[in-house]
Amino acid sequence: MDDCIFCKIINGTLPSCKVYETDTLYAFLDLNPSSKGHTLIVPKKHCQDIFGADTSIGSDVLEAMKTVARAIKEVTGCTGINIVQNNGRDAGQMIDHLHWHIVPRFANDGLDLWPQGKYDSMDEMNAMAEKLRKALA
Ligand code: 5GP
Ligand code: ZN
Repeated sequence: MDDCIFCKIINGTLPSCKVYETDTLYAFLDLNPSSKGHTLIVPKKHCQDIFGADTSIGSDVLEAMKTVARAIKEVTGCTGINIVQNNGRDAGQMIDHLHWHIVPRFANDGLDLWPQGKYDSMDEMNAMAEKLRKALA
């Protein structure tokens, strides 16, 4: 993709602070981190979001998440890690090239990634699970 920032980072046209690389993935520091050490893991092959993801790289992604998360924990001394992947503007996706955020967390660091969206009742929650099971059947 000619106009994709992350494709340009992967092919070296744009600079990045590389952290890790495999045949299928490239990992680098986020320019505007939630906290220092915040790393992005990006498939080398362009796709927009999870809906177009090549599932054959699933185990590569999991392996890279573990490896990078371990290094972030060691280097930053963080006591927690969030792994986040946004799809669509309403979910906060700003770069349309699939990527996973590996975010170091610390006690009382003030980050609030998950505003609460509550069910009114157990009936409503059960109905949602039923609808999802039907969609998956
Ligand atoms: P999204 O909001 O799409 O899930 O995340 C995109 C992330 O990419 C943001 O956290 C943003 O700070 C980061 N980002 C955007 N442009 C650049 C860039 O040119 N270089 C780096 N290293 N990170 C970027
Ligand atoms: Zn791209």
